[in-house]
Amino acid sequence: MSHITLVGLGYDIHRFSTAKRPLWLGGVKVHETKGLEGHSDADVLCHALADAILGAIGEPDIGYWFPPSDASCKDICSLRIVEKAVELVKAQGGRIINADCAIIAEAPKIMPFVPEMKQVLAPILGVSPRRVGIKATTNEKLGALGRREGMAAFATVAVCVPEEAETQQPAPGQSPQGTPCGATQVTQPEGGAA
Ligand SMILES: [Zn+2]
Repeated sequence: MSHITLVGLGYDIHRFSTAKRPLWLGGVKVHETKGLEGHSDADVLCHALADAILGAIGEPDIGYWFPPSDASCKDICSLRIVEKAVELVKAQGGRIINADCAIIAEAPKIMPFVPEMKQVLAPILGVSPRRVGIKATTNEKLGALGRREGMAAFATVAVCVPEEAETQQPAPGQSPQGTPCGATQVTQPEGGAA
């Protein structure tokens, strides 16, 4: 069976919360109180990563699978969102080859947490930690990110799928996998971020 490699790009941004919330990045608690605002746990890295995976396989973005209007998605751990994206890859007979991510924030220091993020994300993605790139950079004090108003993340992934999955896959969003939030009705997102 011949396989093809697909690539995907994901981007996400969240503002810092005025309330005290934990800061979750890549499934790791990076700070106890200086967290991001969001319907879920606001893990900006997981959201970018999930969108990159979904984009590679031609599925709708995470706002479709985890709509902000769905109360059952409230405060969910965003690792569940990444798991859902990987599940959809597997439904096409595919697997993740690698991921590469960049976090953009002036603070806090991210690098000490990167090895743990790789350890958490790698088994979910089904790859070795070496195949999970996570980098952090500042925005050089430019713009909203530079003013420490929020954090952003980019992610790219490569996915290997059987070539015939190209012709056999259901229409985007018509996967038999349903939604992990338990929503019976799936509505198109209004552009909101999980
Ligand atoms: Zn998000």
